Amino acid sequence: MQVCRTKADIRTLLDGWRRDGAPIVLAPTMGFLHDGHLSLMRLARGRAGAQGKVIASIFVNPTQFGPGEDFDSYPRDEARDLDMLRSEGVDAVFAPDAREVYDPAAQTIVEPVELAKILIGKLRPGHFRGVATVVTKLFNILRPDAAVFGEKDYQQLAVIRTMTRDLDMDIEIIGAPIAREADGLAMSSRNIRLSPADRAAAPILARALDEAATLAPTGITASRLRSHVRATLEAEPRAHVRSVDIRDAATLDSLSGPLTRPAVILLAVSFGPVFLIDNRVVHPASEVP
Ligand code: AMP
Repeated sequence: MQVCRTKADIRTLLDGWRRDGAPIVLAPTMGFLHDGHLSLMRLARGRAGAQGKVIASIFVNPTQFGPGEDFDSYPRDEARDLDMLRSEGVDAVFAPDAREVYDPAAQTIVEPVELAKILIGKLRPGHFRGVATVVTKLFNILRPDAAVFGEKDYQQLAVIRTMTRDLDMDIEIIGAPIAREADGLAMSSRNIRLSPADRAAAPILARALDEAATLAPTGITASRLRSHVRATLEAEPRAHVRSVDIRDAATLDSLSGPLTRPAVILLAVSFGPVFLIDNRVVHPASEVP
């Protein structure tokens, strides 16, 4: 497995592979890897095939963190990450530092304007601008044929799909299902920072989403379903509920009245200093898959 720190090195490597006709599939990460990330690598391998190349990137992108957020305390362990990626059969890792990625004179940003303002974008202003800009840069540096992103970051996946459509980026975007711990907690690099008591309480997110999936086919309205989920979360005193939203699963448009199409419930909940998100697509009776 090759580890490249500079744009020039990874470009040279990938240009050679591309000349050999190998499809290149990218899985971007911020490191501190867990099984959820590894499931992305496996999907990437499935798309690339045995002859293709799977590239992971590890970059804790400063521009997607706001002031007072957890950029400095974001967990990092590159040696362990590289071991995990090597065992998974990843072909190359792009692990630059921030100076390599960002020119101090850079002026250009990428932002799906409306999508970046809603939901997590409201809680974390500028977050999706940082994400869309860095992913565009990764796409331009690495020129992958396909890229894999987790459904855990549901709005992020929508941002990437919208951006690739709007800017005619010829890159297939593949969504990966949410990987969960045995008790339902969505895997996240941030879980390690939960206190033992908060870790024990955190599966309430998954339980609230399970309840919502059970209630969705009963003819319940979007607003009652949302209130029910919020009440379940608020019954957990350690949970600081930041947002509960129910949106059209395809467009992220607001919903009202009885559910008539697949909806996504999006949760953002803090436990102490740790910000967690989770989501689930639920189906009305007419739409149960
Ligand atoms: P991150 O390192 O948190 O930026 O995540 C890198 C990629 O892994 C993103 O596309 C995430 O959506 C995805 N990811 C993170 N956690 C999970 C999970 N539990 N299940 C599936 N994908 C995930």
